[in-house]
Amino acid sequence: MKHNILIYSGSAGCGKGTVLKRAREICPALRLSVSMTTRAPREGEQNGREYYFVTREEFLATLAEDGFLEHTEYCGNFYGTPKKQFFQMIEDGFVPVLEIETDGAEQVMKKLPEHLSVFLTPPDFATLEARLRGRGTETEDSIKRRLGAAKEELFRSELYQNVVINFDNRIEDAARAVVELVEMGETQSDVLVRDRAAFLASFQNQ
Ligand code: 5GP
Repeated sequence: MKHNILIYSGSAGCGKGTVLKRAREICPALRLSVSMTTRAPREGEQNGREYYFVTREEFLATLAEDGFLEHTEYCGNFYGTPKKQFFQMIEDGFVPVLEIETDGAEQVMKKLPEHLSVFLTPPDFATLEARLRGRGTETEDSIKRRLGAAKEELFRSELYQNVVINFDNRIEDAARAVVELVEMGETQSDVLVRDRAAFLASFQNQ
């Protein structure tokens, strides 16, 4: 294993969860670090699996105990990575995956320089919007806010070592590229963005 910490981000609606699920099947050493959040659970989400769903008071109590590796406020809710389980995973020989937004990612990049960072992106703006709407669990207001946040986040992909495209119907390729980056530190896959400036420019006027 080339890397033992994966910082894994992507704009909302880029298919992060799906790609990661497949990557974990291919590489069982990858372990999702379960975050704490004050956001309400979506249908089908389970406490302790997708997130630890907590109240603001509980979140702030953990923060006061210095219990987070990183934390942030995103779209009106708090999110944070509990420190204890994260370091335990490394001690147990697993590769913790921090599926977090860019603000928290930046905090971890500074704290733990040995990390690997991957930013997952949809191929274009239209695909991003379609995926966000297709999820069907958000209100129109929430979709608009998340679309704005997603676009802003895309431009923060510059912070990351690698940008990987999740094309429609190519989840397997994206997942394999992520695993190759963790295991070998490189991938020959064409889903890895090589001309990053040109790629970002294609989103500029959307
Ligand atoms: P969602 O509400 O859609 O599950 O997540 C919203 C955003 O928060 C996503 O970009 C997700 O990756 C990010 N996120 C989830 N957990 C954490 C965390 O512990 N810390 C940070 N900084 N971001 C998180």
